[in-house]
Amino acid sequence: MPTQLLSKIDELKDEAIQLHSKLVSIPAIGPDNNGDGEKAKADFLTEYLNENGFGEVKSYNAPDDRVECGYRPNLVTMIPGQDRSRTLWVISHMDVVPVGDLSLWTTDPFEMKLDGDAIYGRGVEDNHQGLVSSIIAAKALLKSGMTPGINLGLIFVADEETGSEYGLEYMLKEHENLFKKKDLFLVPDFGEPNSGIVEIAEKSTIWFKVTVEGKQCHASTPEQGINSLVAAAAMIVEVPELKHHFDEEDKLFSPPFSTFEPTKKEANVENVNTLPGKDVFYIDCRVLPNYDLSEVKEQVKGMGLYVAEEYGVKITVDIENESQAAPPTSVDSEIVEKVLFAVKEVYNVDAKPGGIGGGTVAAHLRERGYETVVWSTLLHQAHQPNEKGSIKNTLNDAKVMALLPF
Ligand SMILES: [Zn+2]
Repeated sequence: MPTQLLSKIDELKDEAIQLHSKLVSIPAIGPDNNGDGEKAKADFLTEYLNENGFGEVKSYNAPDDRVECGYRPNLVTMIPGQDRSRTLWVISHMDVVPVGDLSLWTTDPFEMKLDGDAIYGRGVEDNHQGLVSSIIAAKALLKSGMTPGINLGLIFVADEETGSEYGLEYMLKEHENLFKKKDLFLVPDFGEPNSGIVEIAEKSTIWFKVTVEGKQCHASTPEQGINSLVAAAAMIVEVPELKHHFDEEDKLFSPPFSTFEPTKKEANVENVNTLPGKDVFYIDCRVLPNYDLSEVKEQVKGMGLYVAEEYGVKITVDIENESQAAPPTSVDSEIVEKVLFAVKEVYNVDAKPGGIGGGTVAAHLRERGYETVVWSTLLHQAHQPNEKGSIKNTLNDAKVMALLPF
C-alpha cells in the first residue's frame, strides 16, 4: 500500500475543511427547485483546480434557458496514468436540494459549522463529501508525484437532484466519447456509516397517482352522494396485496423483496360536514429488477377497476414517475473487487456488494453497459435539516479513491 500517498491525504485535512466550507457557501440549486443552477460553484471549482496544479478543466455545458447564464455546467479533469487507455472515473454532483423548513435548522444552512469532526450545512453529505474526497485524493496524488496505474478522472455533474437530464445523462448522450467500456466508475453518493455496502444494483421504481371520483354532498345526507374517501381507503388497504403478486426475494437487497407503499394523500374537503367527492393519493413501488413494470401497472389498474365497481366511483391511475432498473453491475467485476479491497485496506471492513431501493445516477451508466459502483461512508443525512458530515469520513473515503487507480 502506498503509505506515503495516504499520509499525504491526512496532511490535507485543513484543505478539506476549507473546501467543504467554501462549497456550502455557494448554493447550487437547480431551476426545478427555483434555483439558478450550478454556475457559481463550477466557476469556483475550476479556479480552485487551476490554482492547485490540476491539468485542463473542461466544462461541458448543457443548454438550459431557465437559469441566468443559459447553461448547466459539467466539469471534467484528469490525472494521467501509466496506462492512458483506461480511466477510473469518480463522479459527484455539484447541485444540492433546497433547505426545506428553515425553522428546523439550528444554524445557517449556507454557512458551514465545524464541531469537532462534524460539519453542518446544506450539501456537506450530499454530495460535497464525495466531491471533496475526490479532489483531496487527486491532490494527494499530484503532491506525491506518483503516477497511478490508470488515469484518474474527476467529474462534477449538474442536475443530479432533479433527474440528471442536464448532468450525467447529458454527458452520456452528447459526450459519450469521453468514456470507454473498460473504464471503471465510482459514484460516491450512497453508503452506510460503517462503509460496509458497495452498491451494485437498484430496484425499479414506479409512482402511481390514483384519483378517486365520487359525488360531493352534505355529510348529513350521505345517500345523496358517493364518498370518495371511503373508496380511496378501500383501495389503499388493497395495495399491500401487491406483495403476494410480486413475491420473489433477492438477498442482494435490503429489504430483499419488492415494496408497495401508499404515501402522499392530497387534501380533500376543508370542512368536516362535507362528504368528499374527490380524493387523490399516491403509491411508491420499489420492484426487484427481474419484474417488468408493465406487470405492476396492470395489477394496480386492475385493482382500481375492482374498487371502482365495488364502490360506484371512477378511479383513474396515472404514472407519476417510472424507471425500470438497469442491469446490475456484476459482483465479480473489477471495480467491485477494487473497492472491496480498498475499503478493507483503509477501514478494515469486509464490505459486501448489495442493492438499494433505487435512484442513483449509476443507472444511467449501467444502462449503457458501464460497470459502476456506488459507495461512500455516509451518516444518512442527505436532504435533512442540519445536514451533517464528517471530516474523518471525507479523508478516509479519499484514501479509498486514491488506492483505486493503482
Ligand atoms: Zn446526491
